[in-house]
Amino acid sequence: MVDKKTNPEYHAPAIDWETRAYWEGCGRGELVLQRCRACQAVQHRPRGLCVTCLSDDIEYFVASGRGEVYTYSVVRQNQMPAFSAAVPYIVSYVQLEEGPQLLTNIVDCDPDEVSIGMAVQVDFVPTPAKNGDKLGVPRFIPA
Ligand SMILES: [Zn+2]
Repeated sequence: MVDKKTNPEYHAPAIDWETRAYWEGCGRGELVLQRCRACQAVQHRPRGLCVTCLSDDIEYFVASGRGEVYTYSVVRQNQMPAFSAAVPYIVSYVQLEEGPQLLTNIVDCDPDEVSIGMAVQVDFVPTPAKNGDKLGVPRFIPA
């Protein structure tokens, strides 16, 4: 039974030239990952070079948004204003179908119901930047 649907509050992310495409993708409702054209490695977080072969021939693609809980922790105390109202909430590494892991929240899920291997699907919170850029923050919901 899901009766504790607590979700942390999100703010616009700090972006730079390496991460802009990722955060803008989140603003469109797309989980954007990088693939190296030289060795085909898929990576996250976004970088200017392939961390496998050091090539700078990197392309972006829209991931499926599907994955599973690799590991998680339930946060039951947090005095930070953006998080204190949300406890208990779930912090998780999600294993994406494409390979990389993403540190994120599992939301709309009773913390007593989350489990390793649980199928999850990406969901986005719009977090527009002060300059009007449409950005977002990804989190995951039970699939
Ligand atoms: Zn590579």
